[in-house]
Amino acid sequence: MTSTVLWLRRDLRLRDHPALLAAAEEAGGSGVLPLFVLDPALLGPAGPTRTAWLFRSLRAWSASADGALVVRSGEPEDVVRQVAREVGAEHVHVTADAGPYGRARDERVEAALSGDGVGLVRTGTPYAIGPGTVVKGDGTPFQVFTPFSKAWTAHGHPEPATSPPADLRWVRRVDGEGVPDDPEEFTRADLRLPDVGEEAALHRWEAFQDRLDDYDTDRERPDRDGTSQLSAHLKYGEVHPRTLLADLAASRHSGTKGGQTFRTELIWREFYADVLWHRPDSAREYYRPQLAGMRFDDPARGDGKAHLEAWQAGRTGYPFVDAGMRQLLTEGWVHNRVRMVVASFLVKDLHLEWQLGARHFMRWLRDGDLSSNNHGWQWTAGSGTDAAPFFRVFNPVSQGEKFDPSGDYVRRYVPELRHLPGKAAHSPWDYAGGYDHGYPQRIVDHKAEREEALARYAAVRS
Ligand code: FAD
Repeated sequence: MTSTVLWLRRDLRLRDHPALLAAAEEAGGSGVLPLFVLDPALLGPAGPTRTAWLFRSLRAWSASADGALVVRSGEPEDVVRQVAREVGAEHVHVTADAGPYGRARDERVEAALSGDGVGLVRTGTPYAIGPGTVVKGDGTPFQVFTPFSKAWTAHGHPEPATSPPADLRWVRRVDGEGVPDDPEEFTRADLRLPDVGEEAALHRWEAFQDRLDDYDTDRERPDRDGTSQLSAHLKYGEVHPRTLLADLAASRHSGTKGGQTFRTELIWREFYADVLWHRPDSAREYYRPQLAGMRFDDPARGDGKAHLEAWQAGRTGYPFVDAGMRQLLTEGWVHNRVRMVVASFLVKDLHLEWQLGARHFMRWLRDGDLSSNNHGWQWTAGSGTDAAPFFRVFNPVSQGEKFDPSGDYVRRYVPELRHLPGKAAHSPWDYAGGYDHGYPQRIVDHKAEREEALARYAAVRS
């Protein structure tokens, strides 16, 4: 028996962790060295919110493993190889990464390790069914959600893994740098995060199960606490979707509408990871290329620049849009309905390309995830899977009135509108004194821009 290395990435938990079990089984009494690499290629683009989440999650993980986590900065192929040498490991264990960067990185690390005769062992993925597994009868990937969801369900997924062995030993004879403090930009931006880490994730899941009865209706209401807010916990693997699915199946919610809808949402996450697996280019390029030829405004000058800045700052003059964009900047999370509305507004009212919005989201979201984010954007922009038509343009005012009927959501994030009662907060232009507290005028006219968007669309269709 020799010590093994468990290289953690998006799997920051102890329970239901097949790679941890594989490392522990190989090590036996010799112990497992848990390692996290601060990879500059990932930390740069992560933005302040996710970086803070990650650092807090690493601290929580280390505390739950008696402080054993070794954190080092550098190129993964150098750091992992060096640490494997220091403990004399024959294998480095990981949860397989499904994203384009992670897959390429792991191949590089595998090649570097093999130079020392050390193997990289991939066990499990961050998904209930590994991306790339569920394919059509003819072996080609699914491009539409509903048939994917049916095939995914028919395929089935493993039960959660058992708990780590009670006699699991951590290796402690290797130095690390410690987990850095929250990034300065995060502290300066005055962002708020909920509790982070595996215990917090399980606690949130437990508390949320009581609300599953109302999930089917409440999940559309940004003014209510109707969704699980588990997305960032899932992103960092603080809880595995298999755990959630098994708990659901064993609960009274297995057959309820709320339980089934929640399960479907988890399958959306699996679907988008699968789409990205087969089409890594769709992280940046149009999934359906037709719209790539459409005329968009230039974000670097004139109206395009001013519009992009107003959208990012939550100062478009459309209250529902601005509330969402300000929620993003204060909480690093936005309700799904609002994500769709603000995304539609950027692409179809401001005529800016979806990648600009996706990038801004990835900078500030705590759950920012390449597959769910970029495909959520492509879906809204009309270029993604599921043939969501471009000509379906969300009306930012009626969407607000429908899904935030009391105006509470808008007033929570837009203080300049707090003096307006009820749904008046959605249309300050209709009320005397609506602009008395400094709320900006609308930067565009929705009706006119809708027509403009449809005209630009017609030009690429013909
Ligand atoms: P719940 O309603 O409680 O759903 C449970 C879980 O199901 C979520 O945590 C998530 O993992 C998954 N899920 C729910 N809806 C979706 C969906 N439409 N697509 C994929 N998975 C889903 N989700 C992210 O995790 N990261 C992102 O970066 C992201 N960006 C998005 C960008 C746009 C433009 C849009 C329209 C959607 C995006 N989503 C993203 C999907 C969705 O908005 C979030 O997953 C959801 O709002 C997270 O809140 P929750 O955990 O309370 O969700």
